[in-house]
Amino acid sequence: MSRRFVPRNRVVEAGRLPPCRVSSKQRETATVMHMALDRSRRGRATRRRKRRMGLVSHDLSDAQWSALQEAWDGCAYCGVTGVAVQRDCVLPISRGGRYTLDNIVPACGPCNASKCNSEVTSWMRRKKLDERKFLERLVMIQASTATQLFDVANQGTSSLTPQH
Ligand SMILES: [Zn+2]
Repeated sequence: MSRRFVPRNRVVEAGRLPPCRVSSKQRETATVMHMALDRSRRGRATRRRKRRMGLVSHDLSDAQWSALQEAWDGCAYCGVTGVAVQRDCVLPISRGGRYTLDNIVPACGPCNASKCNSEVTSWMRRKKLDERKFLERLVMIQASTATQLFDVANQGTSSLTPQH
């Protein structure tokens, strides 16, 4: 192999993950999608993780993301509308969350950056956000998008399989 020594800092990061301060584990997960095969120890660890993650569906289709944005109509956490929203993992990937329909909500930039790897309910309490309302809407929206997208999901992915 001619590309035995790939510098670690040349790893390309995935552009679609929230621009918060990601942990190295999260970064590793993010790079899986775009990373060329490399022979470093980190590369092997990443591929192992990818295989493990590959046992469950780990992606959110464009249709699912559109449905989520429509259902939440703004930031899922603070409720702000009319701003750009980003995909936020309710349960952070670093805590075992997955990049799937039942774990993604739209979040405004400030909420996304502030929450980052925090556990969602303690973060909301700390920020004095309406945790109860969020959880109620989360359950409702998960149920409605799951029904709405059932056919779409059945065609290609199994990402609507309950994760818990
Ligand atoms: Zn927000």
